[in-house]
Amino acid sequence: MKNTITIQEQHYKELKNHLIQDDGKERAAFIICGRSLVNGNEERLLTREVHVLSEKDLLSSERYQVSWNNNHFIKILEKAESKNFAVVIIHNHPENLNHFSSVDDNGEYHLFKLTFNRNGGNGSHGSLIMMSDGSLIGRVWKPDLSNEPISKIRIIGESFKLNYPERTSSFISPEVFNRQQLAFGSSLVQDLSKLKITIVGAGATGSSTALLLTRLGIGELCLIDKDTIEESNLNRLHGATMKDVGKYKVDVLQKYIKEIGLGTKISVEKRWVSDKECIDQLKTSDLIFGCTDDHAGRILLNRFAYFYLTPVIDMGLVISVKEGSCELQNLQGRISYLFPGSDCLVTKGNIDMDIAYAENLKRNEPENYKKLKEEAYVIGEGNPSPAVVTFTTQIATMAVNELINRIQGYNMQALNAPHKIFFFHRGMEIHPENVSNNECRICGMKNYWGRGDMNPFLDMVL
Ligand SMILES: [Zn+2]
Repeated sequence: MKNTITIQEQHYKELKNHLIQDDGKERAAFIICGRSLVNGNEERLLTREVHVLSEKDLLSSERYQVSWNNNHFIKILEKAESKNFAVVIIHNHPENLNHFSSVDDNGEYHLFKLTFNRNGGNGSHGSLIMMSDGSLIGRVWKPDLSNEPISKIRIIGESFKLNYPERTSSFISPEVFNRQQLAFGSSLVQDLSKLKITIVGAGATGSSTALLLTRLGIGELCLIDKDTIEESNLNRLHGATMKDVGKYKVDVLQKYIKEIGLGTKISVEKRWVSDKECIDQLKTSDLIFGCTDDHAGRILLNRFAYFYLTPVIDMGLVISVKEGSCELQNLQGRISYLFPGSDCLVTKGNIDMDIAYAENLKRNEPENYKKLKEEAYVIGEGNPSPAVVTFTTQIATMAVNELINRIQGYNMQALNAPHKIFFFHRGMEIHPENVSNNECRICGMKNYWGRGDMNPFLDMVL
């Protein structure tokens, strides 16, 4: 079982400003975290609230030691208790000692003994150390007061940063990624090899995305789609041949990606994204690509990004012609990078609630759907929409470049634009304004950010 943590970028900045100061002293802070558990696979902590310990809260603050009055800590435990949240303690090592000292071991043992005695529960709590360059190491404490290292620390916001114990500036990238390393350096190659990415939808944009991510050197991919290949898909489905008609899209893609032979770990789910198996895949991913036309699926991914602090790069393409003719009316693509700090797809009007309702009804109550459709109470599927491989592939390429930019930062200016719309027939690109402080329950209020596991899932009744 892996232990990992995801830190909201705004929390990281607050912690760094507090902990790393010119006087070179040790300081401390507490973090309240939501939890995400996939049994036997990963326990992930998700930051929600930072409480820094000011000078007056400390009993001592020196070069090698920091101590505080436990009354302050007990208030944090009280806050965490009601929703079974985890508590993480963070301090800095001004001398850059990159492991926990015996003083840390002893202090934390007593701190977490108090924590488990008071709050109970089977979930872990954690501790982090920040070096003077801002890099982090960590470990979790278990109910039996043993501890285990945190194998991955994600910092997510406008950019996406990773910390893991093996991360090194002297990483030698495999020969196959040599040319990519020449452009962006070896640490990007190493970071990409550490990522698990789930792609929801394995159609035109999903198959493009999957193949691009494979050749970029992403370590692990999961593909979710329950559709089979039809002949009319072959004009835009990468990796599929005429012989594959009738087979599952994800099976064909998986076989193709394995044959490329870059060592990509790959799993597939032939299910709806809301099925438990798919949810577990999402919960163990570092990032998700939304490549579905399905509005009900988008509602789920849209919430997931904020609840689980897992960025979603959603993409869409609209091609329309004037009725009864072949005259092009619209040729428009969109990519959205969803994270706590961006407007969500509901706020931006990219999800049609009526269509989502009809899709859910068709899935869960097919008889009822049929009846209501005949009576024209729900929206039925219309005629097939136009699709051209060059544009579906282009929008997927832009979405994958969005990922590279969020990690590597080759175009820093574009980082503050979560939504990008491309009018291909007019040669125009616009970046809709990000409306912070809106009234949306998902992206406007911070209550759900890092909430993690709860009942009902995503606070949503399907
Ligand atoms: Zn919103």
